[in-house]
Amino acid sequence: NGPINLFGKGEEGKGADSKWLLGGKGANLAEMSSIGLSVPPGFTLTTECCNAFCDPTKWNGEIHPDVWDATLESLKTIESKMDCEFGSESNPLLLSVRSGAAISMPGMMDTVLNLGMNDVVVEALATKSNNPRFAWDSYRRFLEMFGNVVLELPRADFEEEIDNIKFGKGYFEDSELTVEDLKEVVAAFKKVYEKNELSFPLDVYEQLRLSIGAVFKGWNGDRAIKYREVENIRDLLGTAVNVQAMVFGNMGQTSGTGVCFTRDPNSGDDELFGEFLIDAQGEDVVAGIRTPLPIADLATAMPDVYKEFNANTKILEEHYGDMQDIEFTIQEGKLFMLQTRNGKRGGGAAVKIAVDLVKQGLVSKEESISMVLPEHLDQLLHPSFSDTESETYKASVITEGLPASPGAAVGEICFTNEKVVENAEKGIPSILVRDETSPDDIAGMYSAEGILTARGGMTSHAAVVARGWGRPCICGCSSLKIDEEGKTLTVGGVTLKEGDVISLNGNTGEVMNSKIAVSPPTIKGDLQEFMEWAEALASLLPYQRSDFEGIFEAMDGYPVTIRLLDPPLHEFLPSLEDKEILEKLASDLSLSMDELTTQIKDAAEVNPMLGLRGCRLGITRPEIIEMQARGIIEAALNAIDKGIDAKADIMIPLVGKVEEFRHQAKLIRATADKVFAETGKTCDYRVGTMIEIPRAALTAHLIAEEADFFSFGSNDLTQMTFGYSRDDVGTFIPEYKSQGILLDDPFVTIDQEGVGALVKRTTEEGRRVKPDLKIGVCGEHGGDPRSVKFFYETGLSYVSCSPFRVPIARLAAAQSAA
Ligand code: ADP
Ligand code: MG
Ligand code: MG
Repeated sequence: NGPINLFGKGEEGKGADSKWLLGGKGANLAEMSSIGLSVPPGFTLTTECCNAFCDPTKWNGEIHPDVWDATLESLKTIESKMDCEFGSESNPLLLSVRSGAAISMPGMMDTVLNLGMNDVVVEALATKSNNPRFAWDSYRRFLEMFGNVVLELPRADFEEEIDNIKFGKGYFEDSELTVEDLKEVVAAFKKVYEKNELSFPLDVYEQLRLSIGAVFKGWNGDRAIKYREVENIRDLLGTAVNVQAMVFGNMGQTSGTGVCFTRDPNSGDDELFGEFLIDAQGEDVVAGIRTPLPIADLATAMPDVYKEFNANTKILEEHYGDMQDIEFTIQEGKLFMLQTRNGKRGGGAAVKIAVDLVKQGLVSKEESISMVLPEHLDQLLHPSFSDTESETYKASVITEGLPASPGAAVGEICFTNEKVVENAEKGIPSILVRDETSPDDIAGMYSAEGILTARGGMTSHAAVVARGWGRPCICGCSSLKIDEEGKTLTVGGVTLKEGDVISLNGNTGEVMNSKIAVSPPTIKGDLQEFMEWAEALASLLPYQRSDFEGIFEAMDGYPVTIRLLDPPLHEFLPSLEDKEILEKLASDLSLSMDELTTQIKDAAEVNPMLGLRGCRLGITRPEIIEMQARGIIEAALNAIDKGIDAKADIMIPLVGKVEEFRHQAKLIRATADKVFAETGKTCDYRVGTMIEIPRAALTAHLIAEEADFFSFGSNDLTQMTFGYSRDDVGTFIPEYKSQGILLDDPFVTIDQEGVGALVKRTTEEGRRVKPDLKIGVCGEHGGDPRSVKFFYETGLSYVSCSPFRVPIARLAAAQSAA
């Protein structure tokens, strides 16, 4: 493995499976040239070079002399292929220096084009091409890019100079600049260097050395580090550097540059989707300086080029087995391919493309499974806004909170449960807006289109309930000031009142103060077909529902895991505000109002999450457990009567000591025996426990002796391992994330390092005692693809989550198994 890989016509080179070393761009340039497409010749300095360059104990910010020699050697190969010479005063070669890591980091590190230019070379290029305008245009581009990317001069300083000259002459577009004007621009750009006391290196080799170094250095720049953090990109060696012969899209009307997806990334339709510009270079297309033309227009502007380009897109799709995102340049009627990668796409397009590629015979069903990401499905299973790029949408955003439950919701602001229910009866859609929700809000939450709260995190009451029902929800929107009495909400100077229409984007957390157009979810056609393939690959995942019988029926033959009641006690108690209910209850219980309020106050806990919950409730109030155990066993027996193979797994929550488990299991088994005796029938059932208290995890070997199965309660385990109240995380998690103390919200994505270590240890210890111990997870993490992958790799048997997230979990499991 040398430090350099050559690519271009006639090079053997390494291909796409060397991304780790060559970066995505370098590997695909090599791959494209090896399958016969026209790629300007060049070479790639590997990511290992970047790693050594950045390491103070290795090259320490310098290019190693041996590697520099190899670079110059490789440059000779480009020169001979291009039949011109770097720095030549008669027949010059220009280069591009392009970054590219193994994982694409769009816009993170910049490219230097037209390198190898100076006052003498520009004249030579003008003469050689017989096109002085092109030569001077390339020179001013190089001065700006080199200054900006390599010497870190502000881009704005260059923009200001060129604008002064342009507008001074009454021009609107760069293309109106004449050769003389461009010479003026070049002079003005050189002054920008002088003003900043930096000199522009006239030596072209010095330009190359500095540019390669700048790309390597950029790997540890603030922007790149932040991007990797936010996108969770770890364990990469660094960026590769691609040095490549320039081809010129700015040589006049038969030249141009463009970007194109091989299929429509929004609809998934099998037609080219892209743009190009005539007489332009590099990033002009995306920079928005001129309005590009749709790719279809290339068919009339340059029919032969279009034909070849179209054929190339087919070759690339067939070769990579996926939709491609392509960059190309045309120099005087000749097409060059400059980049290709798998294209990013929306949820609907992802499914359509996967299904179409299978039908077109380009990929197998198994391969297609990994082309639809869980996020894609998540988008599809909820209504969504039709056009989040529109001006109306963007202008309406008034604030942002945590995207707690995906989907789009539009409705009238309601501050109370009653108002939502009243609206629902009249058929008026509502958004329930609260500081935070409580179990009292259930009716309103159910009838609302969406829920917006000022407080609470991703696993707050509002978030969990909303996800369970598939209601869009935005939580922890701390900039909201809600006046429930006055029935107004204020945010960033805007005040809205009850009845005003707002829109929530549960995918992004954006809140809009207007009615935004919505498209409904579609679980038909392509999606249905696709899900059938994924089903066939993964076993069904059990999930919880209150309707035991129905679920036994649905899960005929599969064990159904049922968790015993576990809300904190205060959720059972009526609120002291609720006079009507209190009066009725007092009379039902033959208590005076005073006696009742005293009892309720006595039962109120300072910290209900750590109070009378789970098995603690079951031990102090055994009748609650007996009632549930009876319900489950009877339901199972009824189901068996109907010919269904019902298997109940009963799960005891919040166990910390094996003694607690023993107490509850005994009660359940005694109840089951009672039911068996009464009915004269029996059924299979198992009693297991939730592992959600660190003490239980640490004594897993003791609990495994007695429990039939384990299920990690990942929400509580996270809460108690970190000591973060899951209802209050909105107050500090965003700050923790922005400071890099946390990379992810641990209530969304399992914390592998800490909580995950407990999960691993518990699994090992449990299986040491009982090798075939069934171990699963239930909690919101069961719907998070990265967490599912971790659980799968840890050897867990099943994952459960809110029913709405089941298709996502199923897909993630199918992908981990593949
Ligand atoms: P990014 O990673 O930001 O896309 P690239 O390295 O792809 O950066 O460069 C951006 C653009 O510069 C390319 O799309 C292409 O238009 C232009 N470019 C890069 N290399 C060359 C080259 N050798 N000849 C002509 N144009 C080039
Ligand atoms: Mg870029
Ligand atoms: Mg690019």
